Amino acid sequence: MDICYYGNPILREKGRLVTQFDKALQDYVRALTAEMYEKDGIGLASQQVGQAVQIAVIDVSRVDTTPEVLLDGKVLHFSLLMPLVIINPVIRTIGREKTVRDEGCLSFPEIFEPVERVYEIEVKYQDEHGQSHALRCNAMLARCIQHETDHLNGILFIDRMNKNVFKQVEPQLEFIKQNYI
Ligand SMILES: [Zn+2]
Repeated sequence: MDICYYGNPILREKGRLVTQFDKALQDYVRALTAEMYEKDGIGLASQQVGQAVQIAVIDVSRVDTTPEVLLDGKVLHFSLLMPLVIINPVIRTIGREKTVRDEGCLSFPEIFEPVERVYEIEVKYQDEHGQSHALRCNAMLARCIQHETDHLNGILFIDRMNKNVFKQVEPQLEFIKQNYI
């Protein structure tokens, strides 16, 4: 798999819904997960490897140990969910708390900038076997799910930056467009 960088129009495409949960899908999810680990990412969306489909994988255990998780109504340690596969996700925000943290993205080499996001969410999604789940979580896990779900809808973290931060990164964006294919 090759990573698609900023400037590649696939990153702006909304992903198709997944309707077939077969072996081909499971193989694809496995490859996507391997690619995320190989590139040292904490999340990877299908658009980033050239396919506009509603599939993303996540593993935040390297960057956070605090997320609280309620999966289908049951408390569990977030590490048991990693790597997390989210297919056809729909997010509902919980509460009004927002946090600002530096974010990066494998499609934007060298850019790490503050992005404001909701602290706690509930995401409804399907796993690679087609099972539906409701996951309530917070902290970096919630942030990462928001970042990846945005990708699946053609939205990028630069769209979430405030105006000043965005202005600062514009030269870097130009650089990526010119130098990464
Ligand atoms: Zn990203």
